[in-house]
Amino acid sequence: MTSNSTETRQIDGYVRKWSEMGKTRIEVVCPFCKGHLIAYVWSLNGSGKKCSCGAKMDGSGTFTKDMTK
Ligand SMILES: [Zn+2]
Repeated sequence: MTSNSTETRQIDGYVRKWSEMGKTRIEVVCPFCKGHLIAYVWSLNGSGKKCSCGAKMDGSGTFTKDMTK
């Protein structure tokens, strides 16, 4: 379900990407609040990762934010 109040933005790229205990983690800059967000790649491909500002990142590096919140 999509609505006009939802905005999507793409990340510029990873700040860093590393492996921890066999799992790949990435650090990115949120395109909405410019805060740093660290996530497991496997969890992005599943449920995604939510930033403290409310934007949600998916496995392709796209942030989606409900602008009404
Ligand atoms: Zn954010």
